Amino acid sequence: MSKSDAAPVRYWDYLDDYSTFREQYLALADTVFSSGRLILGDRVAAFEKNFAGYCGATSGIGVNSGTDALFLALKALDIGPGDEVITVANTAIPTVAAIRAVGASPVFVDVEEDTCLMAASEVESVISPRTRCLLPVHLFGQAVAMEPLLEIARDRNLYLVEDCAQAAGAEYLGRKVGSFGAIGAFSFYPTKVLGAFGDAGMMVTSDAGLEARLRRLRFYGIDADYHSEEEGYNSRLDEIQAALLDFRLAKLDSDVSRRREIAAAYDRGLAGIEGITLPVEREGRRHQYYLYTIRSSHRDQLKAYLADLGIETRINYPTPIHLMRGYRFLGYEAGSLPVTERLAGEILSLPMYPQLTEAEVDRVVAAVRMFKP
Ligand SMILES: *Cc1c(COP(=O)(O)O)cnc(C)c1O
Repeated sequence: MSKSDAAPVRYWDYLDDYSTFREQYLALADTVFSSGRLILGDRVAAFEKNFAGYCGATSGIGVNSGTDALFLALKALDIGPGDEVITVANTAIPTVAAIRAVGASPVFVDVEEDTCLMAASEVESVISPRTRCLLPVHLFGQAVAMEPLLEIARDRNLYLVEDCAQAAGAEYLGRKVGSFGAIGAFSFYPTKVLGAFGDAGMMVTSDAGLEARLRRLRFYGIDADYHSEEEGYNSRLDEIQAALLDFRLAKLDSDVSRRREIAAAYDRGLAGIEGITLPVEREGRRHQYYLYTIRSSHRDQLKAYLADLGIETRINYPTPIHLMRGYRFLGYEAGSLPVTERLAGEILSLPMYPQLTEAEVDRVVAAVRMFKP
């Protein structure tokens, strides 16, 4: 693989991976097309088993998307209208969309400044008699501190569901995310660290009762023989995505290692620049660097400067959810989540994917170093 010095540095790209593994992907697709089974077959069962095992959970239940994984997780816990779910506002919209889809209300807490993750210290003060569930988001690929949250969940008799969409393979105290709460919800949207060639998601759990419920809910409430035991939905994983994901699961750890190498190169190259704050990896965590997100008080200028030099960046996310027009009805005012709101104006995600070359990383580092506000 050779990339020209003048070509743009892409923020994310799957085409290098595709050209490297094209024959294997096409052979897998042919195997599935020739098998006579396209939905919820052996490939799905194998991937569910392998992925749950990877996460340290007993069972995996494959679905259409990460949003559905969150929605069905909350459904399976009987969370609905009148209930409150505590989460963060610096997340992808689907975290909140899933809470609303079951009819519950999101309650936002502020985040830690350095990790951008849910601050456990903020949680107690928003717990009400309606609170049913904590929904932390392992944002950017780093695990939220689970111990304090598990303790609160235990003391207050709350469920804990993990939004693991950005964090497949991330670890907290040597354990993979997804196995701490009642249910871990994953997305395999193409840009995620373990990405499909389309939409896909999974719930993992080690509770046999929840597993059975989740399997029913994704398939019209059916246990067997087209008889619905309870009102359910249609959210299935297909054989093609499962086969391709299973192949990619086998190289997830090496992909994560490569991401960590790139992050270390950014850390070294960008250390000590005035006005730039680098992401931190907390002790006891293994960050898988879905995103490498820096902070700058001149973020918009820096973004434009990098774009002029052919370097793509993104802002994840420019507007916290509580301030979006679509969620104004929740009643939050500007200023209600000060850290979250400040971070939204400073964060910038640099190019990050395993096939990024050393030369490309060097170009990004040199460009950020040259920037003068
Ligand atoms: C991607 C993502 C989701 C939703 O996943 P989809 O597969 O796109 O539905 C949920 N939460 C977070 C934090 C995400 O990044």
